[in-house]
Amino acid sequence: MSKQTPSQRKLAKKIAPHDAGLERWTDWQWQLKHSIRDIETLEKLLGIRYPDDEREKLLKTLEKFPLSITPYYLSLINVDDFRNDPIYKQAFPHPAELILERREMSDPLAEDHDSPVPGIVHRYPDRVLFLVSNVCSMYCRHCTRKRKVGDVDCIPSPEIIEQGLAYLRDTPQVRDVLLSGGDPLLLSDDHLDWILTEVQKIPHVQIVRIGSRTPVVLPYRITDQLVAMLKKHHPLYFNTHFNHPREITASSREALAKLADAGIPLGNQTVLMAGVNDCPRIIKALFHRLLENRVRPYYLFQCDLTEGLAHFRTPIGKGMEIMESLIGHTSGLAVPTYVVDAPGGGGKIPLNPNYLISLSTNKVVLRNFEGVITTYKEPDSYEPIFCDRQCDKCVLHLPLEEAEEYRASGVEMLLSDDSDTISLTPEKTERIERRDPD
Ligand SMILES: *Cc1c(COP(=O)(O)O)cnc(C)c1O
Repeated sequence: MSKQTPSQRKLAKKIAPHDAGLERWTDWQWQLKHSIRDIETLEKLLGIRYPDDEREKLLKTLEKFPLSITPYYLSLINVDDFRNDPIYKQAFPHPAELILERREMSDPLAEDHDSPVPGIVHRYPDRVLFLVSNVCSMYCRHCTRKRKVGDVDCIPSPEIIEQGLAYLRDTPQVRDVLLSGGDPLLLSDDHLDWILTEVQKIPHVQIVRIGSRTPVVLPYRITDQLVAMLKKHHPLYFNTHFNHPREITASSREALAKLADAGIPLGNQTVLMAGVNDCPRIIKALFHRLLENRVRPYYLFQCDLTEGLAHFRTPIGKGMEIMESLIGHTSGLAVPTYVVDAPGGGGKIPLNPNYLISLSTNKVVLRNFEGVITTYKEPDSYEPIFCDRQCDKCVLHLPLEEAEEYRASGVEMLLSDDSDTISLTPEKTERIERRDPD
């Protein structure tokens, strides 16, 4: 394990003067046991003091959205300028969390509506979220599931997990299962091993993903024993949640290296947040550091319309500006997909700057990242192949043994040859209701 930093040594002594805190600093259970959950302890440990009126507001905020931070994550805060610190802002309450803006919701993604059984969110055709833990090592102030934080700080009962497993067994279209929560890595190794084993026994489940922020806020959770267990469950993917280059420390590097050495492909999901990382240079530095640690930036998220997050939200234009600064300017590996998770439950919507300027029947005008405007000449003769989705009779003789027959849907259907659909129309618009008085 990496050596403690001076600030970690100081904190360990303050937190547990009689408990040999220093030796146990890298014990993840010790970190959880000593997580900071109230303002007074925080003031004591950071050596700061809030003015009385501010403390009162903070206490009100905590009543609605509780506080919890690991000593490790606390140790990353730059105390001299804590109010501007990106770690502090992600971990500590702000009275602005009590401001409710119009259109904000407690469940903006309507996850509770897409939940066929408790703990399962089934929104997309072939993959599901399986919420296997309600516990987190830290309460991120920007949590999209803030409605749930702190209210059920417990492990879902084996019955709930069994119900989720039964749903997976009975739903053959599910080929990809995302274990999330809460944080699945706050389960014991044995319990997680059991869940992974049961999920992977299901013949139609091809891959499993774990979403966990422990490499960022509790890197000591990534123990050799844990990694040895995870290794038995390939193909297993792992997505984590770094938001700022300052979160990449000796300890988090070590955690990431263990996972990568075990052959687990690592991805990262970043949330774009005002005052934390809404700067193209910060984001680019973060993505470069992640790649150095074998982590592929996967998604850049627009901040959700969750109650209490107004002060973190940026205009979508900021995200577009950041994508413009990445695409072409740096390795494609460092370019994630920028997504807005549709309020109301429409799922993730990718956004990209426009590179298509215009087109005719034989030319397409494009621009690149430098502003070069170029033309792509379309082929003079292209024999369109009419696709009736009878792959076994197809002249292309594609080796499609594994491609199950399926019907196109959504915009893909509008493009397909074997569908007569010419438009997708929302149901129950005034216009449609006028058409059919019944
Ligand atoms: C994000 C998400 C997924 C996974 O989406 P990918 O684009 O495949 O990473 C699955 N289910 C829900 C409900 C999600 O929000």
